[in-house]
Amino acid sequence: MAHKVIIIGSGPAGLTAAIYAARANLSPLVFEGVQPGGQLTITTDVENYPGFPDGILGPELMDQFRKQAQRFGADTRFENVDSVDLSAKPIKVTVGDSVHEADTIIISTGASARLLGLESESKLMGFGVSACATCDGFFYKEKEILVIGGGDSAMEEATYLTRFASKVTIVHRRDEFRASKIMQERALAHPKIDVIWNSGIEDMLGDPQNGGLTGVRLKDTITGEVTEKACDGVFVAIGHIPNSKIVDGQLELDDKGYILTQSDSTKTSVEGVFAAGDIQDKVYKQAVTAAGTGCMAALDVEHYLENLNA
Ligand code: NAP
Repeated sequence: MAHKVIIIGSGPAGLTAAIYAARANLSPLVFEGVQPGGQLTITTDVENYPGFPDGILGPELMDQFRKQAQRFGADTRFENVDSVDLSAKPIKVTVGDSVHEADTIIISTGASARLLGLESESKLMGFGVSACATCDGFFYKEKEILVIGGGDSAMEEATYLTRFASKVTIVHRRDEFRASKIMQERALAHPKIDVIWNSGIEDMLGDPQNGGLTGVRLKDTITGEVTEKACDGVFVAIGHIPNSKIVDGQLELDDKGYILTQSDSTKTSVEGVFAAGDIQDKVYKQAVTAAGTGCMAALDVEHYLENLNA
């Protein structure tokens, strides 16, 4: 028999949808995917999620979400969905050799921060390296920070980080920014912000077990000269990649690959298919907003199923 709802993804959106769907007796099946717990599992302390006045570790918060969903009967599996077929009902979800059927699905596969791809970057992630200024900026009071990138995100993060840092240096691989003029001007006019042009990060230095990041090795993209620069934090702000590959060609996406949802709703272009969290949000991108849309998606599913059976 078809499941009432299958949830794909297990960040705050997917697991909140699971909590609500489970409490509505919809017995959700949750495929947690390649990064169980989502982007919060690559951060350390989370201090802006309401309800935790002393903060909580990102992975621990997501464990709590999962336990809460399981308590009400959600079936959460550490499995990755290979493909979905949204062309007919029931919807088909393929995981390895198994094909699961569902009346509805919630896609909450998130967006992944684009990273530089250095081994040292992944080793030091959460230990001086971050991909989210709103999440981690607070930990860099009176520290020296580098922001990598030249788009609006880099400008926004650099400007935001001046609230905490003693100095912010934007490192960009070219001699001009891609960012909108107004955001460039704001960043460039800030007394705490400097720019290193024509430079890439060749390596990040430091030991995650022993004080974390201490600096970076920079390479001049024109002369090839390699220099070292000491710093306390590196924020990588080179864009995000929405994880929408499994629905590409089946759902309406915007030009960047984010799933389009109808206003005031999590409905997508296909009936019975709902989207929640960062896969449909390129503006706010917060755990609490993702959780909010996860709740909305479960309520939308409930409503859709009620109408089906009416
Ligand atoms: P983006 O516009 O794609 O810019 C990415 C930046 O990162 C570019 O400067 C790019 O350099 C650099 N980059 C990419 N890969 C790199 C690599 N491997 N190594 C070094 N640098 C690399 O991404 P975004 O800034 O996240 O913005 C995404 C979208 O959201 C944009 O449409 C933006 O306008 C919007 N946004 C708006 C706001 C706002 O209005 N408040 C805030 C944030 C984002 P190159 O320039 O050399 O390619």
